[in-house]
Amino acid sequence: MTKSSLTKPLVSTNIISRPRILIITSCTGEKRFKPANQLTIEDFKDTERLTERTKLLTKFSCPSGQMYTGLQHLRVMEGVDILRSRFGKEAVDVKIISAGYGLITEDKVIVPYSVTFNSMKSAEIYSWANFIKIHESFQQAIVEYDLVFVLLGDKYLRALNLPVETHQNQTLIFLASNKSLDCIISGNAKSEVLTFSNADASRFGCALVGLKGQLLKLIATEIREKPDLLEELHNNPQTLEQILNNQPYQLELPLEIPLLTEKKSKTKKQAKNNKLLQEDLSTYLELPLAVNTHLAMQYFIPEWDDKVDVGYDFLQDEFSLNRKAYRDDIYAHEIYSKPNYHGILVSKVVVDKRKSKRADIENIGGIHNFIKFQDKIMGDCGAFGYIKQEEPPYNTVEILDYYEKLKFNYGVSIDHLIVGPFAEPGVREKRYDLTLRNAEEFISKHQKIGYNFTPIGVAQGWSPETYADAVKTLVEMGYDYIAIGGVARTRTIEILEILKEVYQHLTPKTRLHLFGVGRIDALPYFRHLGVTSFDSASPLRKAWFDAIENYHTLSGKAYAAVRIPFVDKQSQRIKYLLSSGYERETLKQLEQEALKAIREYDKGNISLDESLDKLLAYDELLELPRNGKVNPTAKARRLRQHTRLYRELLEVKPWQECECKICQDYGVETIIFRGNDRNRRRGFHNTYVFYKRFQEFLKTENNLDNFNVDSTE
Ligand SMILES: [Zn+2]
Repeated sequence: MTKSSLTKPLVSTNIISRPRILIITSCTGEKRFKPANQLTIEDFKDTERLTERTKLLTKFSCPSGQMYTGLQHLRVMEGVDILRSRFGKEAVDVKIISAGYGLITEDKVIVPYSVTFNSMKSAEIYSWANFIKIHESFQQAIVEYDLVFVLLGDKYLRALNLPVETHQNQTLIFLASNKSLDCIISGNAKSEVLTFSNADASRFGCALVGLKGQLLKLIATEIREKPDLLEELHNNPQTLEQILNNQPYQLELPLEIPLLTEKKSKTKKQAKNNKLLQEDLSTYLELPLAVNTHLAMQYFIPEWDDKVDVGYDFLQDEFSLNRKAYRDDIYAHEIYSKPNYHGILVSKVVVDKRKSKRADIENIGGIHNFIKFQDKIMGDCGAFGYIKQEEPPYNTVEILDYYEKLKFNYGVSIDHLIVGPFAEPGVREKRYDLTLRNAEEFISKHQKIGYNFTPIGVAQGWSPETYADAVKTLVEMGYDYIAIGGVARTRTIEILEILKEVYQHLTPKTRLHLFGVGRIDALPYFRHLGVTSFDSASPLRKAWFDAIENYHTLSGKAYAAVRIPFVDKQSQRIKYLLSSGYERETLKQLEQEALKAIREYDKGNISLDESLDKLLAYDELLELPRNGKVNPTAKARRLRQHTRLYRELLEVKPWQECECKICQDYGVETIIFRGNDRNRRRGFHNTYVFYKRFQEFLKTENNLDNFNVDSTE
C-alpha cells in the first residue's frame, strides 16, 4: 500500500476558533433495511455490476448516517447531535468505514449490503481494504481536522493499516478494544489510546458492542457543559481519562443525615444555626480519644499515571530527545529524595486500562518495581468503576490472586458503593450485605491460604448506624484494617457523625482508612476518632483543575498560576485570536514577552509593574468568546481578577521560598500554567506541601497529650 507523500503541514490553515472535529466510525451489521437481495462483496468488485444491482435496490436507499442501526452507530450519532447542538453542524464531521463502499461521509446515499471486515481473516482484511482504498481515504480525510476520534473495532482498525501521516498540531483519540493496541500508531500527532474490556462496558452501563459510541456520547455531553474541554482534549488528550474516570463520581450525592443536611433553611435564623452547628466541630474533640491513636497516621496518593518528562527543556519548550512517554517519563517519587506520601493506592481499573499492563507488572516483578516505589502499596478494585452494575464484576478468588501476584502490601475486599441513587431503600440493603459477604469470604480465604498481603475489609453504609454495624462486623470477622468507602464527596461534619458511631467498635489494633478524603483542616477530628490513613489526589490535581488555587504553600495560602498558553499549540483561545485578525507573529511576540517578563522579574531585573504589564498584555486577550463574540464585561472582569491574582503572586514570589526539589530546580517555571511538564510538576509541588503540612500536624499531635482546638489551623 502506498503512503501519501504529503510533506506540508497537514492541518488546514482555515482559521477557526475551536478544534475541527472528525469522527471515524464503522458500518454495522444492523441496517435499516435488510432485503434478501442486498449487495454482497462480489457486487463491490465490479463497477458495472454495482450500478446494475444498486438500481434494483433503489427503494431501500438512504444516507449512510441513517442506514446503520447498530448500537455503536446510534450512540455515536447521538453524541454528534449533542456536539452540533452546542457548536453548530459544521463543527463536527462524521466519516464511516464501510466494508463495502470504503470510507464514506454520513450524507452518502447507499443501499443495503452485507459485507463486514469482522468476518475476514487478516490477509483478506488487508487485500480488501487495499482494494477499496481505506488507508488512502483515511489519510486524506483527516488532513483538515485538528481532533480526530477513531472509534473502530479491531478488524476495522487493522483495515486502516496505520500509521498515516499526521501533524503535531493534530490530536488523535482512539477508543478501541484491548486487542487492537499493537495496530494503533499515531505518527506525529498527539494521541490518546483508550482500550476497553467487558468490565469497562458494564461500568459505563452498556454492552461492549456499543461502548465506543456510548463513550463518545458521554464525552460530547461533558464538552457541551464545559466547552473548554474541547481545547483541553486537543492540547492534552490525556485529559480524556480524567473525564471518563470522573464520570461515576457524579452519582455520589451527599449522604442524607437529616439533622445536619436540611436542604435550605427557611429563615435566616435557621441558616445561622446550621452554620454554627457545622462550624462547631470542637465537640467531637471532647469525645474520649479513640483507642487506636498510638498507630501512626498515613497518607496514600492514588496513582493515575501522573508522570513528567525528566529532561524537558523549559526554555525551548522541547521534550527530551527520543523520549517515549510510557517508557521514559518519571513519577514524583523519582524526583524527590523522599516520597511525599507514605503509600500509593492503585485501583484495578487503572491496571486494567491497558490489557498488557497487568502482564507487564507481573513480568517486572510486581507493582513496586512497576511504579518504582518501594514503600507501601494498597490495591483496591475501584468501586466507582462498576457502581451502576448490580454486582461487582469480580470474584473474591481472582482478586486475592491478583493482589498476591502483583505483590501488593494491602488488598481491599470487593465492595459496592451505596451512594446517590444506589442508596435507595431496597438497593442499599443488597449492596450492604454483598459488601459484607465479600469481606467475609475475602478474609476467610486469605487466612486459609495464607496470602502475604494484609487484607482490608470495606465498610459501606447509608447512615452512621449502618456504617457502625458494618465496622463492628468486620472487626468480628478478624479484620485489623478497615476502610470506610463512599464518603469522598460527603461533607466533613457528616463523616464525623459516621466516625462518632464507628469508632466505638475499634480495637487498639484496628487501623481505619478513609477512601478519597484528604482534608487537612479536618485531620485533628478524623485522628481523634480513630482514622489512621486516607488517600487523596486533590492537591495534585488542583494544580491544573482549580480555577484559582493552583500553587499551594505551607501557610495554607494558595496562588493562581500565570496563564501563558502556547501559541503554537493552537488552543481554542489562540485560534479565536487568530480568527479575529491577530497575526500569529504578534501573538508569539506577546507570548515570548510574557515568558521573558516573568523570568526577568524572578531574577530581579525588572519591576513588578513592568512584569505585570507584559503578563497582562497577553493574558487579557485570552478571554474566550461566548456566542462568537467576546463579552466586554466578562473580559473586564477576568482582567480585574487576573490583575489582582498575578500582582499578589508577584509580590510574594512563593516559588522562591519553596525548598522542594521541583521549585529549587525549575523555579519560576512551576508557577506558569503551560503544558503538562509545568502543570504536573506544580501538582507534585502541591503534594509536597500537603505532605509537609500533614507531617507538621503529626508533630503537633505528638507534642500534645490530647487534642485541643488550638492545635488546628
Ligand atoms: Zn515547591
